[in-house]
Amino acid sequence: MLFLDEMPEFGQNVLEVLGQPLEDKIVTISRAAGTLSFPADFILIGAMNPCPCGYRGDPTKECRCSSSAIDRYQKRLSGPLLDRIDIHVEAPRVEYEKLSASTTGERSGAIRERVEAARSVQRRRFGEGSTVQNGTMGPGDIRRHCPLDDASAGLVRSAMRQLNLSARAYHRVLKLGRTIADLAGSEDIRPAHIAEAIQYRRRETN
Ligand SMILES: [Zn+2]
Repeated sequence: MLFLDEMPEFGQNVLEVLGQPLEDKIVTISRAAGTLSFPADFILIGAMNPCPCGYRGDPTKECRCSSSAIDRYQKRLSGPLLDRIDIHVEAPRVEYEKLSASTTGERSGAIRERVEAARSVQRRRFGEGSTVQNGTMGPGDIRRHCPLDDASAGLVRSAMRQLNLSARAYHRVLKLGRTIADLAGSEDIRPAHIAEAIQYRRRETN
């Protein structure tokens, strides 16, 4: 796992070179003496603030950034890079009362069981020993393992129009929908799974 905190603070050239390893799972380094390729299969996780001051959208504190400063900040992450990130989640500030409350969410042991069940579904799907998983399916696998009913297909069609999704994003939505269905223990990808996958896509925030 590669975790980039404060992602926009990394230089544009650093972020741009992430494209190749994210797509091909290898990284190629060229020097005068020659070119070497190394395996680079990782999950990318990035965190960023909504704006330079960090308070945009905060219910209690006012953001003082100009819209051009916010624009410049967000544009540090290029469209093609954001396109390769399947799950975009906003994490609003958590109030102290909630953090200190005694009620707890789902236990991680229960989540782990669900993840392990979804992994074994994938092992059965792609064959024991296969390196293919939902996230690395090629177009042929996607056709075979991600059939959509009419309602789901309609959802993807209108999302492609409204969110201006690329062909790459389209395939990513199907693969993520497959995983959401697996986590829910469903053999079929249902409209709710596809709707959830679409909802994680990046959308213009302005
Ligand atoms: Zn701000």
